[in-house]
Amino acid sequence: MYRSQMSPQERSFRSRLRPLISYQEFLKGSLTLRKQRCGKPNCKCAKTRYRHLCLYLTRSRDGQAEQLFIPRDKEPLVRQWVKNYRDAQELMEKISSLYWDKLKRKD
Ligand SMILES: [Zn+2]
Repeated sequence: MYRSQMSPQERSFRSRLRPLISYQEFLKGSLTLRKQRCGKPNCKCAKTRYRHLCLYLTRSRDGQAEQLFIPRDKEPLVRQWVKNYRDAQELMEKISSLYWDKLKRKD
């Protein structure tokens, strides 16, 4: 389909989608904070109720849960990648709905 045949709404969604899928990094996953012990015998977490807050990136792949520890210095980057994926997915959903509507209208 030519761009000129698309509704302004669809063109707008696709314009926002293009940079996300053309040159932005993205990944599908969820970020979760966990409280845990670090394992060092002399750390306060071994001796008290203190726990470290650790960030993990998680996903489910072929029914298997996968998790990856994310160091603090990588958090902003990974959050941006996760957001890019979600933004792209949301735009795809919006475009998809336009085609659902089109079929319902039978045009
Ligand atoms: Zn510790």
